[in-house]
Amino acid sequence: MNTLDDLSVLPEVRVRRRGAPDPEGRGVVYWMQRAQRAQDNRALDVAIRAGNLLRRPVVVFLAPVPNYPNGNLRHYRFLFEGFEELESALGRRGVGLVFRLYPRHRLELLLDEVRPALLVGDENPLRETEAWRAKVAERVRVPFWTVDTEVVVPSVCLEREQYAARTIRPRIHRLLPTYLVRPPSPRAHIPWSPGRGLARERPTGEVPTDYPLDRRVGGVGGLVGGAKEARRRLRRFVRTGLSGYATARSHPEHDGTSRLSAYLHFGHLGPRALAIAIQQSDAPEVDRAAFLEQLIVRRELAINFVRYNDCYDRLDGCESWARRTLDEHRLDRRPVIYTLRQLEQAETHDPLWNAAQRQVVDTGWMHGYIRMYWAKKILEWTARPEDAFAIAVELNDRYQLDGRDPNGYASIAWAVGGKHDRAWGPTRPVFGAVRFMSFSSTRRKFDSAAYIRRYAGT
Ligand SMILES: Cc1cc2nc3c(=O)[nH]c(=O)nc-3n(C[C@H](O)[C@H](O)[C@H](O)COP(=O)(O)OP(=O)(O)OC[C@H]3O[C@@H](n4cnc5c(N)ncnc54)[C@H](O)[C@@H]3O)c2cc1C
Repeated sequence: MNTLDDLSVLPEVRVRRRGAPDPEGRGVVYWMQRAQRAQDNRALDVAIRAGNLLRRPVVVFLAPVPNYPNGNLRHYRFLFEGFEELESALGRRGVGLVFRLYPRHRLELLLDEVRPALLVGDENPLRETEAWRAKVAERVRVPFWTVDTEVVVPSVCLEREQYAARTIRPRIHRLLPTYLVRPPSPRAHIPWSPGRGLARERPTGEVPTDYPLDRRVGGVGGLVGGAKEARRRLRRFVRTGLSGYATARSHPEHDGTSRLSAYLHFGHLGPRALAIAIQQSDAPEVDRAAFLEQLIVRRELAINFVRYNDCYDRLDGCESWARRTLDEHRLDRRPVIYTLRQLEQAETHDPLWNAAQRQVVDTGWMHGYIRMYWAKKILEWTARPEDAFAIAVELNDRYQLDGRDPNGYASIAWAVGGKHDRAWGPTRPVFGAVRFMSFSSTRRKFDSAAYIRRYAGT
């Protein structure tokens, strides 16, 4: 990489505002939003390389947004737990940190104070965050690039919305030799000196008691946020959980999965470093392949869906065959209809569903197989598929620590609206040709009684 132009044409870089860097600019600012880590972060790498080419220091601006859409204390607590370690981790790469809390959290303020040469951000395909980036691109006076770092294969290489795992899989596998390689981790040549007269706050691991946010859902024990904790969990999973993953992942009663989804969601762990750790482990090939299928193919299919489909969080985002079949069964009698409140309080007739709902309320996590059952039953027990979609999104986003994520929207679209799936026969009441799941089928698959006992009235 010899010039800024070389950097700006990398597939992972999206130029949101063109132009030459301000020659008087004091540094390169990386507006860190989604990728909250100092390692395996392509946005940080791009900012450092640009800073080195421009002979300017690099500073990260990190400022938790108050009242983040659908976020609550559960999510904020996990997020804040990752802040404390960031300053020293960035320092090891020669990069400074300006951390600010509400009401001093606005990027525009920081840009006025720093007058950067170039602004770099990270990508997040969700509607709200995408709108923020578009607004910044309109207002900012220096070039603004965003970098796609939460995927192994840059989203742009997949070109358009992909129909299913079978269409995205060969494309991804073709590109893995190029993109699934050890991150370069450059170091900033010119260190950011803290004494540059900027107001900054000490990154704190705790949410300030007066921070403006929804406090109706409390934090959870068990999962602690942060990049260090993510790496610790990853090492443990590779050592003790990966062998046997291909089978264990379908057994919710044993929790045989990595539980890394929240770390991926909050950007405490990069998918590329995770994939390399799995690839290089001694676990059997079948287990490594099963894990990489979920982490890369399924997860990047979800990100592709959200990036290219504006209706990702409602039924309209699903294929026409699925909307048609659900429409044909719109007036079918439901076995029972529950309100959002009854569902939220786990007050259904189904002990497995109630156990799942209790698990997520109490722990912020639910096993993947159970999540499928949980969402499919919401379709069966609500008056309209549109209601089912909305309720599943609301509960998923409120209680799952990894909620508000492309994976959640794509998976709910799969469960309720057959997204990325195919039509199944014979058709069934309410579901039509959308894949059905019954309580008895789950009993054949795993020890559901053990799972129910575990989460009964916890
Ligand atoms: C109705 C429903 C809602 C869901 N909501 C979310 C959500 O809000 N956030 C979320 O991250 N995942 C969601 N999932 C996908 C999946 O269930 C979780 O990612 C997984 O259970 C997380 O546990 P883990 O980290 O132990 O997974 P592991 O089995 O250890 O998998 C490793 C990683 O691969 C990815 N992954 C695994 N399964 C899937 C999948 N089916 N689709 C896409 N990526 C996958 C995740 O990033 C996960 O962390 C949902 C699934 C369903 C059916």
